Amino acid sequence: MYTDADILRLARDIVSARKVVALSGAGMSVESGIPTFRGKGGLWEKYDPEEYGHITTLRHHPERAWIMLKEMQEAILPAKPNAGHYALAELEAMGLLSSIITQNVDGLHHVAGNKNVIEFHGNLQTTSCMDCGFQQPSADVPLDPLPPRCPKCRGPVKPDAVFFGEAIPVDALTRSHHEAQSCDLMLVIGTEAVVYPAASMPEIARSAGATVVEINPSRTPLTHFVSSYIIQGPAGEVLSKVVAEVKKLKG
Ligand code: NAD
Ligand code: ZN
Repeated sequence: MYTDADILRLARDIVSARKVVALSGAGMSVESGIPTFRGKGGLWEKYDPEEYGHITTLRHHPERAWIMLKEMQEAILPAKPNAGHYALAELEAMGLLSSIITQNVDGLHHVAGNKNVIEFHGNLQTTSCMDCGFQQPSADVPLDPLPPRCPKCRGPVKPDAVFFGEAIPVDALTRSHHEAQSCDLMLVIGTEAVVYPAASMPEIARSAGATVVEINPSRTPLTHFVSSYIIQGPAGEVLSKVVAEVKKLKG
């Protein structure tokens, strides 16, 4: 667990930093009711992501890929931002957060009001036709029967998220490298940061001399080797306390 002193330490680091960047992962949205994939009871216990979440499966066995996508959408589409998302939006509005690099596909940072969000893995909020490109809100895609088809041309449809076998959008990669390299404080929130390219961001920041602070109830592979310190608690709870302290410091 963490102490009040940990919260104050991070609040002070944020206020005195020149440039703060956040990297968020699945843990960021746990308090919004979206489970992590790898955690207990997570989707990946049921489905092999490299099979069900692979672009080739979506093309050739869409009915199989959509079994998992349907479950993901049912968890993600009704979810609302939690106190942690809102705390990050407040930090940005106060001019104390440059950007959020996120691996999440739930779009909740945008919904909470953050403007500068770099989505590494795209977003599940919209779905596009793989043949004609017609795009529609994912909430409008009928999920019975599976797989859904394009209402315009009956072609196969795909959520606008990055699948296994697909490249990370170049623009997202370039921007996040720049952000990681130029920050002096990186907050690593709710991620193991084991999957490339997100995994390299804390290392890039650290090598460039930044302080790297984790917010996660569990220690991760970064904790020993990369992080300056960890605040061991849930993101929503910790971030709202940190932002309350930041406001006091800023008077
Ligand atoms: P991951 O590597 O991002 O790790 C999840 C981490 O969250 C773990 O370290 C866990 O200790 C931590 N965590 C759990 N509860 C937390 C809380 N309340 N506050 C802070 N941290 C908490 O996750 P993964 O599940 O293996 O995901 C793999 C990929 O799938 C990632 O790209 C991830 O972003 C994506 N994914 C996205 C969503 C989403 O969009 N909400 C949900 C699941 C997975
Ligand atoms: Zn179409």
